[in-house]
Amino acid sequence: MSVVVVGSINQDVVTRVRRIPAPGETVLASSLVRTGGGKGANQAVAARRAGGASVAFVGAVGTDPEGENLRDALVADGVDVSGLSQVEGPSGMAFISVDDTADNTIVVVPGANAAATALTPVQRSLVSTARVVLTQLEIPVALVQDAATARGAQTWHLLNAAPSAPFHSARAALLASVDVLIVNEHEALDITDVDDLEAAVTALAPLVRALVVTLGRRGSLVVCGEERADIAAFAADAVDTTGAGDTFCGMFAAALAASGRAPQSVDMSLLKVAARAGAAAAAIAVTRPGAQDAVPSAAEVAALTE
Ligand code: ADP
Repeated sequence: MSVVVVGSINQDVVTRVRRIPAPGETVLASSLVRTGGGKGANQAVAARRAGGASVAFVGAVGTDPEGENLRDALVADGVDVSGLSQVEGPSGMAFISVDDTADNTIVVVPGANAAATALTPVQRSLVSTARVVLTQLEIPVALVQDAATARGAQTWHLLNAAPSAPFHSARAALLASVDVLIVNEHEALDITDVDDLEAAVTALAPLVRALVVTLGRRGSLVVCGEERADIAAFAADAVDTTGAGDTFCGMFAAALAASGRAPQSVDMSLLKVAARAGAAAAAIAVTRPGAQDAVPSAAEVAALTE
């Protein structure tokens, strides 16, 4: 398997509102859409639509009808679900509100995503033979650590430390197991406990082989050893930025897998290619509503980058 994504899978319930309500306030939504989501599943779909890469998703759904729908959606996209467990109880749910400025707020109910703290034998075998293992923190940190430990010596571990709150509980162990750390600006500041991006980058970069900080429409910053590169965002008329980071991460992982390189040989030129591909895919995704639904095909990304 080229890319194995270990992470969350949620039923997204997305409302469109003129503006995000303040605490204590009620607003009326103009629409409601239910779609597949969860950072892990979104990233798996993005890696798969990147083309070329065989992609497996490792995670868990519940025994509710949502669980079946979520599984079917991954299968329809060609994602291997042999590592998708079913656990008694509800699937993960995310309640998302998107406002007129394309900003959002998200409340996640973990459900089945919180059930496992260790890989099953089937999941372990997928992870151990992957070229790239991509994780996030919407699942128990112990499961992320188990996946990092189970991977092969030549397998990349990409950690998207999102959401960043769980990072603090296992900071040293997570950093020790990561090849490429991918965070947005907010997450970079949170995990370093500073209020200045430059200080956060200076603190994080020496601890990993490579660091990627995504900066929304300002693009991303890639650091590898002493080298730094600014990757520009592609111009986009954003309508919904939900899943921009997930699309970036999935595409980035697929590009590393496609390179055939091992993490020990990482260099800036490879990282720039992967980050540019991620930026292109994310720029298309933000022009469409939804997370998984918004992820572009390889042909659409190629049309933008050529
Ligand atoms: P997250 O969704 O995790 O908060 P970001 O908002 O930083 O992540 O977005 C990830 C990447 O998606 C950015 O580095 C950028 O390349 C792209 N992106 C995000 N928002 C826009 C936008 N409005 N226009 C163009 N590209 C965008």
